Amino acid sequence: MKKLIVGNWKMNGNLTANQDLLVALAGNQNVASGACDAAVCAPVSYLFQLKNVLETTRWMWGAQDVSAHDAGAYTGEVSAGMLKDFNVRYVLVGHSERRQYHGESDSLVAAKAQRALAAGITPIVCVGETLAERERGETMDVVKRQLAAVIHAVGHCATELVVAYEPVWAIGTGQTASPPQAQAVHAVLRAQLVAACGEHGMSSRILYGGSMTAANAAALLAENDIDGGLIGGASLKPTDFSSILFAASAA
Ligand code: PEP
Repeated sequence: MKKLIVGNWKMNGNLTANQDLLVALAGNQNVASGACDAAVCAPVSYLFQLKNVLETTRWMWGAQDVSAHDAGAYTGEVSAGMLKDFNVRYVLVGHSERRQYHGESDSLVAAKAQRALAAGITPIVCVGETLAERERGETMDVVKRQLAAVIHAVGHCATELVVAYEPVWAIGTGQTASPPQAQAVHAVLRAQLVAACGEHGMSSRILYGGSMTAANAAALLAENDIDGGLIGGASLKPTDFSSILFAASAA
């Protein structure tokens, strides 16, 4: 299947720097030719800018979080409907930084995924184990539990999810899961999607994230069940990001 590369800017950027980065992305030939699919998830304050620069290209864009509520007295929250006003295609839910620093539970993440789907936005459901969990041999149990909560909440809509396996110990650390390590987890997630959605689970995309770089992208993307990447740090560097897009197009 065609690979999907998603950049996660996290809490980085400003109007001037974004403009340069977005203009570079807009000119990317691998995306323009349709050789790979690509998106950028930016802070909500910049969604209007993303829409302005990218709407005439094949790029898609997204947000990094969404409220579990529809509307009302939830100061500081941004609803799925509001994101939809900016034509967002994707929203990250359950990123490990949200689970770690904002105490997001599996059930909250599932509610956010539901809200996104109801608004016509594809949730990118992030799952992944901490180093301690890996060392205790709990990796598969943790990722299955995190994905099961979402599948249970969204039912037949599970076919519309994108899943991102992001080992917490690999995010922003420069330590990457080896391709076989990542593939082993992706195979378990694939089996879970197939169990929930039948054959359709075969065409759901499962991305790898965690220090994916220009140097390791090709080897990771060559694995059977690695259908793309969720890229943090390297998505802020146009040359590195474009090498990853090239690797995705060649995979
Ligand atoms: C991320 O933020 O989802 C991520 C994978 O970050 P990095 O690529 O910097 O590890």
